[in-house]
Formats: sequence, C-alpha cells, structure tokens
Amino acid sequence: MCKICKGDYDKDTTVLECSYCTNLTGIPDTLVNLIVLCCDGCTNLTGIPDTLVNLTELHCQECTSLTVIPDTLVNLTGLRCRGCTNLTTIPDTLANLTKLWCDKCTNLITIPDTLVNLTQLYCNRCTNLTVIPNTLVNLYWLECSYCISLTTIPDTLVNLTELDCDRCTHLTNIPDTLVNLFELCCDGCTSLTSVPGTLVKLDRLNCRKCTSLDTIPTNLVGLKFLYCDGCSLLTSIPISLFDHLQKFECSECPYLPQCDPTTYQTRMKLYNQAAWIIQEKFWYPIWGKRKQIEEGFKLLHEID
Ligand SMILES: [Zn+2]
Repeated sequence: MCKICKGDYDKDTTVLECSYCTNLTGIPDTLVNLIVLCCDGCTNLTGIPDTLVNLTELHCQECTSLTVIPDTLVNLTGLRCRGCTNLTTIPDTLANLTKLWCDKCTNLITIPDTLVNLTQLYCNRCTNLTVIPNTLVNLYWLECSYCISLTTIPDTLVNLTELDCDRCTHLTNIPDTLVNLFELCCDGCTSLTSVPGTLVKLDRLNCRKCTSLDTIPTNLVGLKFLYCDGCSLLTSIPISLFDHLQKFECSECPYLPQCDPTTYQTRMKLYNQAAWIIQEKFWYPIWGKRKQIEEGFKLLHEID
C-alpha cells in the first residue's frame, strides 16, 4: 500500500511518492500543491488529475493504463513516462519541459514541436515515432535508438553533443550541421551511407554493423574511440585517425586489412606503426613494400 492508499497525505503535500502500488487507480484531485509526484509502475492508474497545475516533476513510468497526460500541467520541467504504452500524445502545452523521458511509448507518433525548451530527450524504442521536430534547437542530448520509423534527424539540432540513434534502420543520414557532437552512436543504422566529415568535435563514434557505410571521414580530428565492427563495406580507415585514436575495434570488416583489434588497446603507439605499415599494404600492394608488410604483421603479433 502506498501513501495515497493509506491516506497519508493532505492538501499541503508537495512531494508524493507512491510508486509500484498496483492498488492505486487514481490520484486525489485535491492535491493542488503537489510539486513532485512519483507514481512509477502503478499499472492500474488510469489518470493524472488536471488540477495538479503546480507539478514540476511527474514520474509515471510503466503506468500502462495511463492514456493521457493532462495539458494543464504547464509547469512541468521534467516528465518521465517511459513505457506508458497506451499514451498516444505528449501535450503541446508543456513549453517549460526541459527533460522528457518517453522511451518505449510505442504508441507515440510525434513529439510536439512546441517543446522548444527541451534540452534532453530520451525516446528510445518509440517504434512508431516518425519525426523529431526541427524546433527543438536547445537539445544537447538525444537518445532515439530503435526508432525504426525515423528517417531523419533535423539539421537544426546544432547544439547536440550526444546522439544515440542505434538501430534506426531507416535513417539515411546524419546532418553535417551537428558540429558540436561529442558522441555519435549509430550502431546498426543499416541505411546510413556516410558520417559527416564536419563532426570535428567527435570523441566517440560507434558505427558497428552500419552495413551501407563505406568510408570513415579523415577530418574527425578529435576522435578517440572508433568501433566499426561489422561494417562490411569499409575498405580502409584513414591513417591520420591513429594519431589520436585510443581505442579501435574492427572485427568482421572483411575488406579491412586483417589484424586482431584486441592488440591495439594496450600499446597504441606500437600499433600505430604497425597499422600504418599494414594500411600501406592495402593501398599500395607492390613488391617494394613487402618487407614493411611483413614487419607490420610481426609488430601486431608482438603486441599480442
Ligand atoms: Zn497504494
């Protein structure tokens, strides 16, 4: 039993925690002074009163009977409604929202374009979501992995530093305007044909199993982590990247020179030398390089 079921509240209550109570079917509409309401996992809760206009934080994750978030909750700055599988919309009146967690809201088709103050949006596994609005220009964190209905990321999201769009299988490009990106995770984006060379602040690129990707840009001058396992079209990695790469994995890349990625991690400097020689082999497979090629493989073997 939660505080509501026990009657342990009054009209002056400002913070209420009643998560994981399956007996709870409603929240009293007299709690007009509530600022924070946590009712995660209340699977029989069918509504949130529209009188709770002072709420700034609402946590109603996995409330699977909830069909609506009231549009009167205009003071909300944080809304966590992950796994509310019967929710079809987020109210367009929530203009003060800065953080929205709506992962696994599988019936959500859009995010309102009026939520212009959002800085963080987590909509992973919203499998019916077709659009991220181009008005969300204050976003710096966007997680939309497994959004299989998404075809684009707006080119207006220029403040993004983190983008996780793993397994957005219909995404065909990453805008070249996202120049502030620090991390890009696009594992399994099988329709993605390129990564923009303008992402000069990129520190980490996870692009495993991007089976349509045929190049890694040379001008990713800040890249420290590159994971491109299973990129079956990749034929080379720009040598200049090894000046700053700290971790590199490329298993199951049939067209990349054969080498064991686990050897790269501990002695990167020696690796750089070997990798360079092996890359030479790939690009200039001529007799004159033969000795260097042998040396390269030997070096990699030694690191191991
Ligand atoms: Zn209860």
